[in-house]
Amino acid sequence: MRKHIVAGNWKMNKTFDEAEELVENLMMQLETTELKGTQLIVCPPALYLELCTDQSQESYFMVGAQNVNENESGAYTGEISAAMLESMEVEYCIVGHSERRSYYGETDALVAKKVDALLKHGIKPIVCCGEVLAEREAGKQFDVVKRQIVDGLFHLTPEQFKNIIIAYEPVWAIGTGKTATPEQAQEIHAFIRNLISEKYGAQVADDTSILYGGSCKPGNAKELFANPDVDGGLIGGACLNADDFLAIALSF
Ligand code: PEP
Repeated sequence: MRKHIVAGNWKMNKTFDEAEELVENLMMQLETTELKGTQLIVCPPALYLELCTDQSQESYFMVGAQNVNENESGAYTGEISAAMLESMEVEYCIVGHSERRSYYGETDALVAKKVDALLKHGIKPIVCCGEVLAEREAGKQFDVVKRQIVDGLFHLTPEQFKNIIIAYEPVWAIGTGKTATPEQAQEIHAFIRNLISEKYGAQVADDTSILYGGSCKPGNAKELFANPDVDGGLIGGACLNADDFLAIALSF
């Protein structure tokens, strides 16, 4: 059975004091909130991972990183390895976010290496895919997403693939206030699940959580999550406020 997951990507936001306040607020509210089986994941900037993993021991959320280097260790100034994340008890990591693809040249081949590095250290990758506006307007969204999934993930064995979470994030909807319609989200999510089924079989496909990301908010989460192939969300802007993040998590 696949899980409902709501993950919050803080991106490059919050000073330390603000990060502490957000996590404390989240913990306080979680004491009295029934998540009904939805897995909550907080992905802060790397500097605050320890703050979050310390607190998560006593609360109902898990912690994810926003990025990882594909190499095991060595002379890669400024980078963070999967072994380091594992040693900090980080359980998830976002890979292939569109901002990393467009600003830092993250290719599908690099995504594949990062996924391998994470799996080697027992960390579950949250792998992002999605088309830019021009690709959608040209009707190429299925080709783009297929290429990202096949080249980034289909080298994995079925056993390895069971640890993958996919986030479909149409780039034109990220941080823009434009959301995919529930029908657009369902169409691509079903397409992704079908790709997985063709490669790994119906059971693996059925067990894979596929999240939607792109201007998901308390006001639209319910209609997006109501779709049979939408298993939750990867949330940017709205996760910076504990009330909004939890309202989204309660939208199933
Ligand atoms: C994201 O960056 O993953 C994202 C979905 O951002 P936002 O919710 O702000 O569109």
